[in-house]
Amino acid sequence: MSEHGKRDTLLPYGKQWLDEADIEAVVQVLKGDFITQGPAIEMFEQKVADYVGTCYGVAFSNGTAALHGACFAAGIEAGDEVITTPLTFLASSNCVLYQGGTPVFADIDPVTYNIDPKQIEEKLTPQTTAIIAVDFSGQPAEMDRIQAIARQHSLITIEDAAHSLGADYQGRKVGIWADMTMFSFHPVKHITTGEGGMIVTNDEAFYRKLLRFRSHGMTRDPQELTRNEGPWYYEMQELGYNYRMTDIQAALGISQMDKLDRFIARRRELVEIYNRELADIPGLVLPKQHAEANSSWHLYVVRFLPEHFQYSRKEIFEQLRAWNIGVNVHYIPVYLQPYYEDLGYKKGLCPNAEKYYESCITLPLFPGMKDEDVLYVVRAIKELA
Ligand SMILES: *Cc1c(COP(=O)(O)O)cnc(C)c1O
Repeated sequence: MSEHGKRDTLLPYGKQWLDEADIEAVVQVLKGDFITQGPAIEMFEQKVADYVGTCYGVAFSNGTAALHGACFAAGIEAGDEVITTPLTFLASSNCVLYQGGTPVFADIDPVTYNIDPKQIEEKLTPQTTAIIAVDFSGQPAEMDRIQAIARQHSLITIEDAAHSLGADYQGRKVGIWADMTMFSFHPVKHITTGEGGMIVTNDEAFYRKLLRFRSHGMTRDPQELTRNEGPWYYEMQELGYNYRMTDIQAALGISQMDKLDRFIARRRELVEIYNRELADIPGLVLPKQHAEANSSWHLYVVRFLPEHFQYSRKEIFEQLRAWNIGVNVHYIPVYLQPYYEDLGYKKGLCPNAEKYYESCITLPLFPGMKDEDVLYVVRAIKELA
């Protein structure tokens, strides 16, 4: 603390939690025979799939690669439209572009900030082939309604659950709702492998496609080969990538999974403190939960409604940074990026997302945060209010 009672070091908005067990798990792999393409990969895939309740998991080098794989497995190609939310990280719509498809943005619900199922219905055309829902901040999207729309129109659903590992909806874990669900293991997410991602699914055909896509489109499975020239023979039937995770990362992921429920429980405790301490500040909008959703709280996002504060959002952001609080903004609506503007997307497309973007600030939230850290953030906000 400095003499003005401000921190000397940055309180980040998110941060990994690693312990000796994690370090030991990685060291064991480094001392073993396989640092990639070994047994830790399947063990990690099984552990995540068992946790969420799906048959299959396919690990990828990162969550973005996993989303690319899901779009490939869904058969998205040029001419296909995929409906998604503008309030997300770039990867959830870039993955559609990778496949030559067209992202179509449906506006958010102004209360939950998740994609609004009614807006999805308005964006349906004969070219629509898939929906990519995002569980913003860790709160599951309304997957029952989204699945119903998808079944009615024969669409494939992909859930970007980068924020929501361990969350549930109607009492059932995120992972079982969509045709394919993506998790990210970037250090700010619920568990980490450094970089890493996974698709979970109950569909064997998607599972097999994802496995091939991850490794150059290659297969050695006798049942998949069109011919067999001998024991060395492998075949490439489609264009894949090298999107493999290493065993070093998978071992870390296996060890991190043991702590996942504790991480989420701690996040929920910290959120309770924020909710209690920040209640009753006029114009400060706290995050709201859908009655059937149970968030795993990747992000704690508040909104400073401009008419209630003497400072603008930008000034509040800068002042919180001056307090050494690593506030952030999640997210700039994707289609406002210059690359998307060049593709023809225009401001005004999703008014709720644009309005949200003008007033949002993400406060620090991670399992290693102390109660005092939350109270420090609260004190800073109260001095600005
Ligand atoms: C983190 C994140 C991703 C991408 O994950 P990476 O593992 O960083 O590639 C995708 N979508 C959302 C919403 C994310 O937050």
